[in-house]
This record gives sequence, structure tokens and C-alpha cells, in this order.
Amino acid sequence: MFGIIPSTDVSAKLIGLLPIPAMVVRAKDGAILVEATNTACREAGLANANDQQVPRHPLLDAIGARIGAFVESDRLNEDFPLQFGSSVECRHFRVAMARLSRNAEGRCVVTFVDQTAELRTEDNLRREMLTDSLTGLPNRAGFSERTEQLLEAAAPGFRYAILMVNLDRFSRVNACLGSMSGDELLITVARRLKGILRANDVLARTGGDEFAIFLAVEEGGNDVAHVTKRISSALATPFRLSGYEICVSCSIGVAFGARRVDDPEDLIRHAQFSVKRSKSSGHAEAYQPQAFDIAREQFGMETALRRAIDRGQLRLNYQPIYDLASGRLVSFEALARWRGEDGVEHLPSAFIPVAEESGLIVPLGRWAIREAVRTLAGWDAQFGGDCGVKIAVNLSAIQLQRDGIAPLLQSALIAHNLPGSRFTLELTESALVTDPDRIAGIMHALKGLGTTIAMDDFGTGYSNLAYLQKLPIDILKIDRSFVTGMLVDRDKVAIVRAILSLSQALGMQTTAEGIETNELAQTLAALGCTYGQGFAYAKPLEVDDAYALLESRRH
Ligand code: C2E
Ligand code: CA
Ligand code: CA
Repeated sequence: MFGIIPSTDVSAKLIGLLPIPAMVVRAKDGAILVEATNTACREAGLANANDQQVPRHPLLDAIGARIGAFVESDRLNEDFPLQFGSSVECRHFRVAMARLSRNAEGRCVVTFVDQTAELRTEDNLRREMLTDSLTGLPNRAGFSERTEQLLEAAAPGFRYAILMVNLDRFSRVNACLGSMSGDELLITVARRLKGILRANDVLARTGGDEFAIFLAVEEGGNDVAHVTKRISSALATPFRLSGYEICVSCSIGVAFGARRVDDPEDLIRHAQFSVKRSKSSGHAEAYQPQAFDIAREQFGMETALRRAIDRGQLRLNYQPIYDLASGRLVSFEALARWRGEDGVEHLPSAFIPVAEESGLIVPLGRWAIREAVRTLAGWDAQFGGDCGVKIAVNLSAIQLQRDGIAPLLQSALIAHNLPGSRFTLELTESALVTDPDRIAGIMHALKGLGTTIAMDDFGTGYSNLAYLQKLPIDILKIDRSFVTGMLVDRDKVAIVRAILSLSQALGMQTTAEGIETNELAQTLAALGCTYGQGFAYAKPLEVDDAYALLESRRH
């Protein structure tokens, strides 16, 4: 072993003065002697550096043993990193040792390159890359790194949970109050969330309006339920933004895991998946593998639906709509139908959401418009002139956002030489939420083609009545959920009455959907509802049956 000769008091300035402190040292009988420092080396010449002893540098104390080993070896040079000093003042050096010459026995040059500044810059840059600049929280990458570090350090049986918190309708705050207010909201949410977590939980902002939380789960696992409750109540207090009081709710997805058993990246995905379920259920949802199977099934459905659209295997059914007062057949609503290759009939309530999520709604919607126009032209031809009915086509909110509907309809109308007045377009309230001004523009363009515009599923969504008034809406369609069973439910009657009087006030007509009994049809007519459709009249019909119905009504 090498001992160290106690250093005389070394001037700390030495390092400062010499950008690369170098010294010639001699290892002798287990001791390290400094023969010359940087300047002295130069003056004396390296080969001839055995002048007077100079004060030893404390860095040498740290590496005495390595120098000893080096001079005893037959290597000519060697280098390694060295950390020196305590935490805050810690400096990082690269130490290089080089043999002076083959016969300079026991002597070598040691140089220290101070890399502290470079490393600090690198460190800052790294930290920046892992941090969300708006909230100062870790970002997605930072979250992964922190959880990995914590799991690395955790005990073998350690159990944990990852929570994903997604703000509901955040885009609306941005759209209505501007992105400055949106930023302010995110910062406040971050602060409130931080406030309810324990010191060693990790909070990160992993997306625009998405936060992630890493929690240790203690025996019993009640802590997670507790935290989800506290999150909801922390956000329940309204936020003050640009002079408004804003209420924000959130959806929470949870996934549980154990160290070394589960990959935290999988858990993040699982929790994100559960957020989607939380959005529709309205409460926090824990990840369940069966739910994932449903999603996978949906993915299978997506592939099959894409193929069906490409191969033209979808068709439209037509449900008649009547004038309630006169009983006259006025139009047909076109409803998409899809029979799979295995002969199974898929419901629109299953495949339309898949189409919307996957973007397939764009080709599906284009097909539906063209098919409806083509059908009506065919009916007119068979009828020998205007057959006297309109066709109503459903438009999805996503389709409106992504596709140029008005030009598409216009070219279909031109191709079949039909006026726009023969068509109704059914839009849902949800179309108005994301970008109301743009959608208003599209509605005006459709109106410009002469079409009728109906607001579908009315009453189920968010309706800004003042806004509705400004839009070119001709018909409100009262959602089936209020109509079916209305006669035995006073709340439903009240809603239907309210919608009817609203539409009168706004100068709009109304269509009731889901009329299953004649009694209901009569009641609705008496209440002043304009049109109606439902099983009491007819189920959606195959195209030829619809035409037969139309023919049978010819007077
Ligand atoms: P929707 O636009 O509200 O269409 C009315 C739905 O109510 C239809 O369901 C129809 O079959 C059903 N219905 C009509 N009368 C009655 C009744 O008396 N009782 C009951 N229980 N149900 C009745 P369907 O055909 O299953 O369509 C479901 C939804 O799928 C539609 O709801 C619509 O939102 C969507 N959809 C269908 N075809 C298309 C399409 O081509 N494009 C788009 N974007 N959406 C479509
Ligand atoms: Ca509809
Ligand atoms: Ca509806």
C-alpha cells in the first residue's frame, strides 16, 4: 500500500492559476512526492524535473494509490475521471498520468483537467430536456426517468400506482379565454396537485392537459382511492382566470404495478387507456386488462371496417320521417349499415365511434353523402320526376372538422342534377364545441347550397342557447332518450316541452325520434312537435323497401 506524505498547506489558488494543473510526482517507498508543479515542470524541462520539493496538491491525496499502482505497472499512460469536494462545491476532473520516460523510474506527470463547467452545462441541458418549462414539473421523459430511479432504489416487493389526470374540456378554456389563461390554469392546477401529494410522490406534466402521478402503494391500497378523491376536490374549487370563475373537472385513470414485475412504461399506457374510460364513466377508473381486450377488439373492427369501406360493403338504410300533424311522409333518414364478412350485422353505435376515433369517418361520411344523393336521384328516376321526399344524412363532428363537406356535397349534387333543398344534414351539438366559428362557417356554406340543417340528439350535449340562435339551424331533433318512455316520466315530458317552446321561440322546427307507440305520436303532435320518426311508423328500411313505401303513398 502507498501512504501519502502529509501535504504542506496548499494554496487553493494553484488550481485557479493553472488551467491544467500538472505536476511531476515520484512514487517512492509507498509515498507520493511532488517534484515540480506546472510552471516548474516547464522551466526545468520534463526529463529533468527533480528540482526542489513543492507543496503537494490535495487532489493528489485522493489518487495517491492509483498513482502508485500506475508507476508500478508497465503502462505508459492512463486516465480516469475524479470527483473532488463536497456536494455543492464538487468539481469534476479528468486525471491523466503519463510516464516521464522509460528510465525515469517511479516518476510520472499527473495532469488535472477541470471539466466542472462543461458537466454543469450538460447537466442543466439534461434537466431542461426533462422539465416542462411552463410548470417546472418533470415532463414525459422526466417522469419516466424519475420513476425508473425510484423503482431502482426501491425494495423488492415495492408496489406502486401510476395515475393519469386529464383535464376535461381544456381546449375550450384555451379557445374561449386564450392560451395565456390556459397556461395560467395549467400552472394553478399543477400547484394544487402538488399540494395534495406526499413529498416522495412524483408529479409530472406529460401532455398539454395531462398530468401523471407516481405513488407508492402501501398495504391495503386505500391510499390511491384517497388520492383520487383529493385530486377531484382540489380541482373542485373554481379557478379565477381573466376575471372569470372557471370550474374544471378531470378524468383519472389508474394502473397498479410492482417493482420488477411491471414495466412502468406499460403502466403509463394502461393508465392513459383508463382515462378514456373515466371520461365516459365520470369517475376515476383503474386499468382492467379485459377493457384492453375490448380496445383490441375495436382495433380489429377498425381493420375490418377499413376493408369494408374500400370494398364498398357498407349500405344505407332509410327510416321514414313523417309530418306529425298531417301524417305525410316527408323524408328519410339515411343510417349506415354494415354486415361483416362473417354475416354479422354490426351496429352503428359500435362502428361509428370506431370510425371517428380512427379517422375512417372521413371516407365513410363521404361515401354516405354520395350514396344518399345517388339513391335519391335513382328514386326520382323511378318515380318519373321529383319523388317528393328529402333524405337526411348524418354528419359526424369529426368529419366536419376534417373534411370539406360543402364542396363534396355540391359536386355530388351537380353530378346527379339535384338541388340542395332535397337534403337535410344532421349535425350534433358536439360539433359546435371544438371550433364553433369554423363550424358556423361550414353550416352557412351548406345552407348556401339550399339544404336543411338539423341539430341531432338535441338536449344531450352542451348547448349555448345564445349561440344556437346565431346558427342557421332549421330543425331541432329531440333525442330519443327523452321521447321513448316520455308518457310515464314527468321529467322527460318537461324536457320535451322545454325544447318545443325553445324551438318555437327561435323559429325552428322539431323532429322527435324514437316514437314507439301511436299514443306517443299523438301526444307529440298535440304538443306542437313538427315531425316524427320511430318504430311506431317504421324501422330503418332497406333501400328498395323504402322506395316501395314511397310508391305506396303516391296518390
Ligand atoms: P341517430 O342519428 O340518433 O339515429 C337514430 C337512431 O335511432 C337510429 O339508430 C335508429 O335506428 C334509431 N331509432 C329510430 N327509431 C327508433 C325507435 O322508435 N326506437 C328505438 N329504440 N330506436 C330507434 P342506428 O341506425 O343504430 O344509428 C345509431 C347512430 O349512429 C345514429 O343515431 C347516428 O348518430 C349514427 N349514424 C348512423 N349512420 C350514420 C352515418 O352515416 N354517419 C354518421 N356520422 N353517423 C351515423
Ligand atoms: Ca340522426
Ligand atoms: Ca338522435
